[in-house]
Amino acid sequence: MMSDSRFRCFLVTKTPQGDVQRSILDQNIDELPTGEVLIRVTHSSLNYKDALAATGHPGVVRNLPHVPGIDAAGTVVASDSGSWRVGDAVLVTGYGLGSDVWGGWSEYIRVPADWLVRMPTGFTAVDAMTLGTAGFTASQCISSLQQHAITPDSGEIVVTGASGGVGSLAVSILAKLGYQVAAVTGKPTAHQSLRQWGATRILDRETLNDKSDKPLLPAKWSGAIDTVGGNMLSTLLRSTTHRGCVTACGLVGGVNLDMTVYPFLLRGITLDGIDSAACPMSSRLEIWEKLANLWKPDHLEHLRSIVRLEEVNNPIDEILAGQISGRIVVEIGR
Ligand code: NDP
Repeated sequence: MMSDSRFRCFLVTKTPQGDVQRSILDQNIDELPTGEVLIRVTHSSLNYKDALAATGHPGVVRNLPHVPGIDAAGTVVASDSGSWRVGDAVLVTGYGLGSDVWGGWSEYIRVPADWLVRMPTGFTAVDAMTLGTAGFTASQCISSLQQHAITPDSGEIVVTGASGGVGSLAVSILAKLGYQVAAVTGKPTAHQSLRQWGATRILDRETLNDKSDKPLLPAKWSGAIDTVGGNMLSTLLRSTTHRGCVTACGLVGGVNLDMTVYPFLLRGITLDGIDSAACPMSSRLEIWEKLANLWKPDHLEHLRSIVRLEEVNNPIDEILAGQISGRIVVEIGR
């Protein structure tokens, strides 16, 4: 159990003038949300959604003060659930963590017992948080491609936002599974890393993004993982081969989809939406089992940077500006 009732966390608050502020503060354990399991967190991560939460974005955070962190890994220190014991190593991604309730940028979280996943054997908390929601989402996209019969023999897969968290892990896992991967990036500085992660071809984001109103474009890829949304998603849907599948998980480039239905009617394209936060536990466990074994990228250490909680402010601004490559793991311990 805890030796005292105070703990340190990254708190987003609003001043009486309406300015959003971020600071590291001590809080009382009683202020944690209700839940059956109390966890001492050792590591979390930085996702795009966390950066939005850190700015108090109303689409992510309902109430301030708030603690961001949609991912957390650590050890159970108290449990009212028969499923979890003190000392169990666990991870949590999604559900309401870091959005509806205080999240993982905190020495302690308290969550419902049915949000927890047992830490896969052989996994460290740092590995788990290198993957985190980003790896989980990339894996959901790849599972969707497989369910739509897109195999390595079907043809190239295109990944947008390829140097970002979801993108870098999608490239790495697809390459590990034997797919040819075209990585779309806006960062010339990321080309070398993308090749190291397994991209077979690198495409410039602006060159690929088609702003014409052509209902169909030359068909190039059998599948797509799109983290960008908006016109980029429309470009991918218009340039995927017959019976191909496009998975849509992100919105960094826009939320509107302005296009005709011709790709669906004339090429039989599937558009599959990915919602990682509410993924049912049975699928969640299957995905983490794959991530811990056959799908685990070979060199996770090449995909991550580790920052302490005190150092996360700059990366927050960088991820909002689309400047981060790979994954940021946040070390929580003092
Ligand atoms: P990152 O910021 O790590 O990656 C996003 C990448 O997108 C950037 O690195 C950049 O890559 C590219 N990018 C940034 N801005 C733009 C822009 N204006 N136009 C085109 N490309 C841009 O974020 P995450 O990987 O954490 O998340 C990616 C997206 O997926 C977010 O929208 C996030 O909310 C969403 N998401 C959704 C989930 C779900 O369940 N549906 C779960 C997890 C994430 P490059 O320079 O290489 O082009």
